[in-house]
Amino acid sequence: MVELKTELSIDAMREAGRIVAQALTAAREAAAVGVSLLDLDKVAHAVLREAGASSPFLGYRPHFAPTPFPAVICASVNDAIVHGIPDGYRLRDGDLVSIDCGATLDGWVGDSAISFTVGTPRPEDVRLIETAERALAAGISAAVVGNRIGDIAHAIGTVCRSAKYGIPEGFGGHGVGRSMHEDPAVPNEGRPGRGMPLRPGMVIAIEPMLIAGGGDGYHQAPDGWTLRTNDGSRAAHAEHTVAITEDGPRILTAL
Ligand code: MG
Ligand code: MG
Repeated sequence: MVELKTELSIDAMREAGRIVAQALTAAREAAAVGVSLLDLDKVAHAVLREAGASSPFLGYRPHFAPTPFPAVICASVNDAIVHGIPDGYRLRDGDLVSIDCGATLDGWVGDSAISFTVGTPRPEDVRLIETAERALAAGISAAVVGNRIGDIAHAIGTVCRSAKYGIPEGFGGHGVGRSMHEDPAVPNEGRPGRGMPLRPGMVIAIEPMLIAGGGDGYHQAPDGWTLRTNDGSRAAHAEHTVAITEDGPRILTAL
């Protein structure tokens, strides 16, 4: 069931989203060669704590997970697509990092992700990240009243496929509200004009995930969380929580 949010609720979600943006910005600024993924988690956690927010990631345990998630960010490096667990790995020159973060404030959740390179970037990584951001922007542009979920999915998928990137099937966006994962599912590929009509008050996370090698194959790492590309190529992830309003899409997880 899709819960429509009032304008006041969306304003409250904007505050949760702003904290996510601040945590992601802080993590990105802290990321450098030699810095560990656990360090980035600490930086993000401090931002949440100072803002009086809690983490919807910490202790989260969906059906597929063998253990509760132990951190406030997902940190996915190089061939890791999403759901990487921050550990003692120290960033190296040229790494491609995707950070996903959530915050809960006054009972409302924000969910957002960014990808960036550390040190000297490889041109192909820059292109991959730019395409992920372009796919996100296309998905957001399609998040308007009168469209359907399939229009968002189609917009994302078209950008990814035109650039010859793969799309991991079965993972994508979702409704956001008092919990991190609500209805509806927002796939990263689909047919225009299909699926649920978009209505004012719907709040969704839009989150393209791209595989550089062009194949769609992925597998779960032995930790039971991290998704990695099957071909070993790199992946990028970009995400915003977006409210659908009469005035157009409102990004809730911008700074
Ligand atoms: Mg996320
Ligand atoms: Mg999400």
